Amino acid sequence: MSLEALWEMIRTIDLADILDISVVVILIYCILIWFKQTRAAFVARGILIFAIFFFVARQTKMYLTTWIFQGFFAVFLIALVVIFQEELRRFFERLAALGPQRRVARPIQSEEVEALVRTVAQFARERIGALIVLKGKDPLDRHLSGGYELDGRLSEALLASIFDSHSEGHDGAVIVEGDRIIRFAVQLPLSKEFEKLSGTGTRHAAALGLSERTDAMCIAVSEQKGTISIAQAGEITAVPDLPVLQKRIAVFVREGKNIPAQKRWYGFFREHTLEKVVSLSFAVILWVVFAQELKPVDRIFMAPIEVHNLPVNLGVERVKPERIRVRLAGLKRDFGMLDPKGIRIHIDLDQAAAGGRRVLVSEDNLPIPRALRLVNAEPAYVEILLTEAPEGKRGNPSGFIFSRPSAGSKKN
Ligand code: ATP
Ligand code: MG
Repeated sequence: MSLEALWEMIRTIDLADILDISVVVILIYCILIWFKQTRAAFVARGILIFAIFFFVARQTKMYLTTWIFQGFFAVFLIALVVIFQEELRRFFERLAALGPQRRVARPIQSEEVEALVRTVAQFARERIGALIVLKGKDPLDRHLSGGYELDGRLSEALLASIFDSHSEGHDGAVIVEGDRIIRFAVQLPLSKEFEKLSGTGTRHAAALGLSERTDAMCIAVSEQKGTISIAQAGEITAVPDLPVLQKRIAVFVREGKNIPAQKRWYGFFREHTLEKVVSLSFAVILWVVFAQELKPVDRIFMAPIEVHNLPVNLGVERVKPERIRVRLAGLKRDFGMLDPKGIRIHIDLDQAAAGGRRVLVSEDNLPIPRALRLVNAEPAYVEILLTEAPEGKRGNPSGFIFSRPSAGSKKN
């Protein structure tokens, strides 16, 4: 690409282009972050290789390869949807959660947080196994099974009686929404990240499993070791001491309660610098390569005149003018595929008689790709003078293209 072309491109950037690029930046950025968070790096690498291949094939005009790649594109998209159905589902759930939401009756207060910390500490001391889920913004229902409905204020006494090993309801997890325990003895989905679980059992796998799928905070107290672990955003860590536990719960509660959706989106843009740079550069490259191709342009061609089906008994005495100046409009891309030599005005003289005639230049006698449009022709008419010509002397203006009707065609 020449410098002038580059300058021309920069000069003609308008608001639509900026919006166009912004949307693509956000799209690429979301995809990158998504890949980062779902650890689907191998898929990302695959897509990147695919994209580079496609790009090179296109730029070097490897038509067959480009064509096959385009054919595979739909299959590829479907495969992606299948692979990422869980993530996609969660993404849309989150999007939906940005809208107006059912308000929790009453958010968890600091005294309830303290009661929670005290209870968890006591469980740890007494080796009482427990699993407590603090609901975030994501809906949980889809991931939970079993258990009993409850609507009780979060308190030491209630937690202690639920996790009492003599009670039937101590098995499984307790779900806390706002300041309420809304369900207990619930089964959570298990994680398969065995490395992160480092030898712990199903209780910890359940905590991690839910944290991989939602933004909930899961607190697990180990019956065997008396440790306290927090699983959040697909990571599980043992809590070293109670102040840390207190602080992490407080942060979680604060983020879920006070920060409105917009702020959360805003915060979303404050991190991941590398991803931002990559998505911006990638979007600009894409725009330079592809969007330019989609710009509407006008081009002028000098189209020669071609006469078809000139009756055998006639000759062409004169054609005026020899070439027509045609202006075509369309997308830059569609001109790329156009062969300028193919732009000719075709005049059908089937059944014509001797004499002069004027033929209007229109898309009917100017075969151009369907994506292009004839804006105007100058002059708008072709004038042709036909004369009776004796056999053997059928004069035609020099350099003029014509054809006689082929034997057998049309005459039946
Ligand atoms: P601990 O350190 O307390 O022994 P662990 O991680 O080793 O915990 P297990 O010993 O397998 O896990 O603990 C089993 C308990 O975990 C069950 O009694 C049950 O209360 C709980 N649990 C197991 N599976 C689930 C599940 N899918 N959802 C919720 N709780 C579960
Ligand atoms: Mg165990």
